[in-house]
Amino acid sequence: MALSEDLYRDVILDHSQNPRHSGMLADADVVSEGNNPLCGDQLTLSLKDGAGRIAAIGIDAKGCSISQASASMLAEALEGKTVAEAHAIVHGVKAMLKGEIEPWDEDDDISALAGVRKYPVRIKCALLAWTTLEQALASLEAKG
Ligand code: ZN
Repeated sequence: MALSEDLYRDVILDHSQNPRHSGMLADADVVSEGNNPLCGDQLTLSLKDGAGRIAAIGIDAKGCSISQASASMLAEALEGKTVAEAHAIVHGVKAMLKGEIEPWDEDDDISALAGVRKYPVRIKCALLAWTTLEQALASLEAKG
């Protein structure tokens, strides 16, 4: 069995038990909220704008281990990225979670989320952080 077919890989448990960038930023420029009523996952994401870059990300995630791990991976991967880079990464992760493309690198933590693809209900758990980030990026861009 390929590693990516296992839903609860060690890397997912590690991120859910030790979430990166956990907690809201005190000086956020944008705050975005998302929820997944199917599972009860709730997520609030705060961004600090750094002249077109995501200077900092802070996330308050409550819910299942998949949703929390996904949020942690997002924060780790996106902090420091430009808005354009962030859009490209979000696009790729969403396509991977929906099964449109294959996971790109077994060594990339995010690829571990591919395990949800066999469980349609869990895909929404994994997507939550990424769709919430898209809202935040739109707010950031609207601010100019
Ligand atoms: Zn969930």
